[in-house]
Amino acid sequence: MSNFFSSNKNNSENLFQNQNIGMKPPKDNSLDGQYNELKNNYEQIFIEAVESIRKDLDEFKPQNGCDGCVHKDCKIQKKDIFAPYPPSGCKYREWQMQAITYLTGDYQNKLKAAYKEIMDKKNEYECKCCGACCKLAVSEYSYTQLKQRALKGDKFSEDFVSVFVPYESEEEAKKINPEYFELLNRLVEDDKIYYYYCPKLGEDNLCTIYENRPNICKAFPHNPLKLLSSTCSFNEWKNEIAHQAMLLKAKTDIVMYYKQKLG
Ligand code: SF4
Ligand code: SF4
Ligand code: SF4
Repeated sequence: MSNFFSSNKNNSENLFQNQNIGMKPPKDNSLDGQYNELKNNYEQIFIEAVESIRKDLDEFKPQNGCDGCVHKDCKIQKKDIFAPYPPSGCKYREWQMQAITYLTGDYQNKLKAAYKEIMDKKNEYECKCCGACCKLAVSEYSYTQLKQRALKGDKFSEDFVSVFVPYESEEEAKKINPEYFELLNRLVEDDKIYYYYCPKLGEDNLCTIYENRPNICKAFPHNPLKLLSSTCSFNEWKNEIAHQAMLLKAKTDIVMYYKQKLG
């Protein structure tokens, strides 16, 4: 399953359930405020997601599944979903397989619907043309790498290099948005990131190729957990869907874990 929270991936896949555990919406749209909000709430939401998935899987857990089993000496006392059951002749191994079928089928479809719900909600908000996302964009890829990826058919990279160009130096990028620059540098630690700007941005922060701007511009922000400039009007959308988006991310990560462990 691809991760629909990756900013440079195809975001068509995904999910979510409309639960609300009373998380207060973020009040602080600064980048530090957004980051702290995510960090402080994610652990709680992750636990909520773990418990919710466990509960779903327990719905079809066998009762007294060991009765009449030929593997009488398997010595597995606690019937946990991750226990090392024998590959055949075990009702609990069958349960594990059912769990994977459910998580990658019906459950995955719920997650996709949830993601669509979040992204549809974005349509209720409008870009206020502050220009921040055009003046400073970042990528884990260098300009050369992005062009190579574009040549290999990566649509996001193709769109990106069609408008963005690299800053001459990190100092230049930092001057545009010191808050963003410093937070990203703290977060990525030793990883290299590259800074870009779009020369198509005109006076008054208006796009000079608005009608023909690429899809990455039309779809921005393409990730509900993306840190946005404090001036971006989509912070209101992010605040509204913060809990759902984090729950969705947690569930997506947990499903991947189940697949690795049980698949
Ligand atoms: S193999 Fe499975 S069904 Fe059989 S005794 Fe062990 S846990 Fe129970
Ligand atoms: S093409 Fe227009 S909308 Fe897209 S980054 Fe450039 S100025 Fe911004
Ligand atoms: S940062 Fe947000 S409000 Fe500003 S131009 Fe980009 S999308 Fe529009």
